[in-house]
Amino acid sequence: MSIKQQIDQLRNELNEHNYNYYVLDTPTISDFEFDIKLKELKDLEAKHPEFFDANSPTQRVGGEIIKNFETIPHEFRMYSLDNSYSKDDLKDWEIRTKKLIDGDIKYTCELKYDGASISITYENGILVRALTRGDGFQGDNVTANIKTIKSIPLKLKGDFPSKFDIRGEIVLPFEGFNKMNEERIEIGEEPYRNPRNTASGSLKLQDSAEVAKRPLECLLYNLTGANLGVKTQFESLEKARQWGFKVPKAAKLVSSLDEVFEFIDYWDVHRHDLPFETDGVVIKVNSLQQQEELGYTAKSPRWAIAYKFKAEQVSTKLNSISYQVGRTGAITPVANLEPVELAGTIVKRASLHNADQIEKLDIRVGDEVFVEKGGEIIPKIIAVDFSKRLPDSKPTEYITHCPECHTELVRQEGEAQHYCPNYNGCKPQIIGRIQHFISRKAMDIEGLGGETVTLLVNAGLISNYSDLYELTKEQVIPLERMAEKSADNLIEGIKKSINIPFERVLYALGIRYVGETVAKKLSKHYKNVDALANASQDDLINVDEIGVKIAESVQEFFKSEKNVLIIERLKQFGLQLEISADQLKEQTDKLKGLSIVVSGVFETLSRDELKKLIEDNGGKVSSSISLKTSFIIAGDNMGPSKRQKAEKLNILIISEKEFLQKIE
Ligand code: AMP
Ligand code: ZN
Repeated sequence: MSIKQQIDQLRNELNEHNYNYYVLDTPTISDFEFDIKLKELKDLEAKHPEFFDANSPTQRVGGEIIKNFETIPHEFRMYSLDNSYSKDDLKDWEIRTKKLIDGDIKYTCELKYDGASISITYENGILVRALTRGDGFQGDNVTANIKTIKSIPLKLKGDFPSKFDIRGEIVLPFEGFNKMNEERIEIGEEPYRNPRNTASGSLKLQDSAEVAKRPLECLLYNLTGANLGVKTQFESLEKARQWGFKVPKAAKLVSSLDEVFEFIDYWDVHRHDLPFETDGVVIKVNSLQQQEELGYTAKSPRWAIAYKFKAEQVSTKLNSISYQVGRTGAITPVANLEPVELAGTIVKRASLHNADQIEKLDIRVGDEVFVEKGGEIIPKIIAVDFSKRLPDSKPTEYITHCPECHTELVRQEGEAQHYCPNYNGCKPQIIGRIQHFISRKAMDIEGLGGETVTLLVNAGLISNYSDLYELTKEQVIPLERMAEKSADNLIEGIKKSINIPFERVLYALGIRYVGETVAKKLSKHYKNVDALANASQDDLINVDEIGVKIAESVQEFFKSEKNVLIIERLKQFGLQLEISADQLKEQTDKLKGLSIVVSGVFETLSRDELKKLIEDNGGKVSSSISLKTSFIIAGDNMGPSKRQKAEKLNILIISEKEFLQKIE
């Protein structure tokens, strides 16, 4: 086989595996095997740049940086949809439609996906361009970003037309959205508001590698172009599916409005079980010929209409607004509501996000407000019922001083949140920081919980985490609910924590934006706290995955004399503020990019030792088996259900010995 043939074959294979995984949800090889093939292809392409192809599966990871998105006209305009809110609206629509065309009408019913619309052009089965909707006449060229979304085929299969546009919606399924938010909260960043805005924001990110990391999906619903070789909307969905696109199976072909109503009623209930957000149903005249006869109004097709579900909503009274101070000093306003039932739960509080939101909605205490529950966990206030506003109500004045320590709040240019700058003297910040320090992923101090931290701070026994290491048993015994034994455990647990490795100590310090992963990166790179403290901004930014924001935050942290002092004390108490000599020797990149599960009991190594080996060699330890798992290291007594799952997902299982050989 020639090099070119080898490359082609690998590309085809990898495209097929991407399709199986991301479109069909039924992978046929393990991630590990996939990664090996991908690496093989990468190596071949690197050696033979003459065979470069922008649509190779190796290009999915992104990397292209785009400063300004080019505006390009749509060959076919992207219309909006007319909305309807009741079955009577739909009956009227049918009457209007029947006046304009002859013959029976069939309808394709589809879900209305709530995300960002996209139009993708294919020529000879190759993805050539992707444009956002823009104003409908022209959109932004976001091709580089779109190519990183793995459910979008870069190359089609089957009998596709030589040139066409396909339209769909880029969405962020709830699971991925919530995970992104958990990670943001962990590093002290504000969580994203909702999946839709995050999806559309993602399309405009300048760094496509960043887009590649987001769990976006593309759901397709429309073919546009000349000579498509299809006669109906329903058929075009089926065809698109055959060519390799992800087209949700919910779409249904019906022959009467009553069946349309059934579809609506069904999904009004079952939409809550979908993995992504939907805000309605789209009803389309099925025959493309009839569609052509019906044509367009100035804004939307006459042959389609959206039916919007009513969001579950109630109105209730806003009793008061309170303000919470987080561990990073961020202020979050919270609405305290007259308790009311919504979507099966009693709602008492709703998030107000920030000052802008309160001002925008003009929310005032005493108002009757509409509360809605979307995909997010905390309900939100979407509007005020102005008809019920009391005559003497006054606009809400946002607090200017911290509710806890009365320091004047600050708000940085471009930031939505107000902050209390009293880093060292604001109680919720002090307590929050120490609670973070002792938490499981940080110093994991046994025998000490969040509540006790509050008691210790309130009793004046500690005011920062370094004080923990001077606590004595005699000091803590008088605390509420503290028996002799628990006091012993507490002191013992604190003492033991001095062995926690540097990367976790670094995470425990609670530097804003330094989450677990960043802490690992920084500890590997700088190897000790002094090198990190002395690093220049440029130097920090040069570290893999460290951006300006993190760099500034790190520098700010070490600029504080108080922090430097605390760290000096931690050193004196014997905490690990540098990576161990052994760690230094043992670090490699052999398992870079792999996600590994450890299961069972082992002969020579303990589980923790195994896990450390994986991380020292650049791999990631994951607790549960998923499609992302590269391989499993199994000892004796691996659980039967785990084994079953591994076999079902076709994930490689290796022994401790085989693993040790691998990293030798
Ligand atoms: P609107 O933005 O309210 O005018 O609604 C029109 C938008 O709905 C279109 O531009 C699409 O982005 C989106 N949409 C979502 N699902 C569908 C679907 N199944 N068919 C057509 N449009 C859809
Ligand atoms: Zn404060």
